[in-house]
Amino acid sequence: MATNRTFTMIKPDAVEAGNIGGILNMITEAGFKIVSLKLTQLTTADAQAFYAVHNARPFFGELVEFMTRGPIVAAILEKDNAVEAFRTLIGATNPADAAEGTIRKKYAKSIGENAVHGSDSDENAAIEGAFHFAGREQF
Ligand code: GDP
Repeated sequence: MATNRTFTMIKPDAVEAGNIGGILNMITEAGFKIVSLKLTQLTTADAQAFYAVHNARPFFGELVEFMTRGPIVAAILEKDNAVEAFRTLIGATNPADAAEGTIRKKYAKSIGENAVHGSDSDENAAIEGAFHFAGREQF
């Protein structure tokens, strides 16, 4: 069953490049309501835990280093069928494959430095949202 919430991060590459405003604007223009929002920075342990599913992949070390190198923006978003709708809005993992009009097409630099994260299931959206926000921060 579709939930109405998903979780996103604006990744360090996009924060460094000054694209927080542009990306949040694409998100709200697409009809998502922001229900939680913060600028924060992942520790190495945070990034290793968040991406634990990828810990056997050859790019895992690179991914953890990238995700901890500067601040990120974490947010919980609300919209009907939020997980699927947001995956469509962000586009393919590799910006070379991302469709026109997607966030990654506009802002991602490479398959690794790809500007945004979007949860891939309702279950992970709930886990990832709770990783970053206390219940009283979820409006
Ligand atoms: P997503 O769900 O579209 O974010 O993609 P995945 O779950 O497959 O991968 C998680 C994240 O790992 C991606 O968003 C990238 O930041 C990173 N990643 C995936 N594939 C590669 C790769 O081949 N090289 C590097 N350096 N990073 C990758």
